[in-house]
Amino acid sequence: MGTMRRLAPFAVCCVIGTNVPARAEQSSQAGQEHAHHSFRWPEGKRAAVSLSFDDARLSQVDTGLDLFRRLGIKATFFLESNNIERRLAGWKQAVADGHEIANHTMTHPCTANYAFSLDNALESYDLQMMMAQLDGANAQIQKLLGVTPKTFAYPCGQKFVGRGLDVRSYVPLVADRFVVGRGYLDESANDPSVCDLAQAMGTAFDGMDFSQMKPIVDEAIKEGRWVIFVGHEIGKRGYQVTDVKALEELSAYLKDPANGVWLGTVEEVGRYIRQARSKP
Ligand SMILES: [Zn+2]
Repeated sequence: MGTMRRLAPFAVCCVIGTNVPARAEQSSQAGQEHAHHSFRWPEGKRAAVSLSFDDARLSQVDTGLDLFRRLGIKATFFLESNNIERRLAGWKQAVADGHEIANHTMTHPCTANYAFSLDNALESYDLQMMMAQLDGANAQIQKLLGVTPKTFAYPCGQKFVGRGLDVRSYVPLVADRFVVGRGYLDESANDPSVCDLAQAMGTAFDGMDFSQMKPIVDEAIKEGRWVIFVGHEIGKRGYQVTDVKALEELSAYLKDPANGVWLGTVEEVGRYIRQARSKP
């Protein structure tokens, strides 16, 4: 008995000993959790928001550029590069104004179920053809506007080529070429500590008034997330039109220091996330 009692402290010691691997595991889990919660936006900001517009629609130049200059906002324009020459001087002005010029393919292939894409359908594409779309748009933008896109938006938010057994994801092509690949009609903002930047979520804000945009931003502030808004035309609220008045109100809200929002381009925020996560 005496011997056992004397051993007792050793037993306790051994129990602690056997716990060492478990504790190491726990602490590495805690470490990950710590990393998760310790993601910090710059300058004490609580969330990030980017405003992006797709397709090189004419109203982005005709209405958007003046509006954004007045509001002091830098947006990200994902250009369907075959459309650039319809407003070449305007897109050059967008570059001069400091907006981000980004890639949205040359001809905007989407599923054949969208009638407009019947003759340019992802179901009929292969990865080689998609590569030509990505690199061709970059070359065209470089040639016409003198800048090289660093981010990409998937046309229609669709990320595949082919059909059935031959379907392939083209996300790796995007990951290989761009800092960020942005989706569309996604139902969540991005969690900066875990999101795949090659499949960043895009939140539609066409057809909304500010009272519909605000809760999306507020949720991101609460959760420390990154909202990438996606619009098409800029004008009077409607189908695929982001409302000018809503943009004015949104801008005021985003710029109010009390709300702690970083309003950055897709490239700026994407680069910050990448760099912040690469730190030990
Ligand atoms: Zn598009």
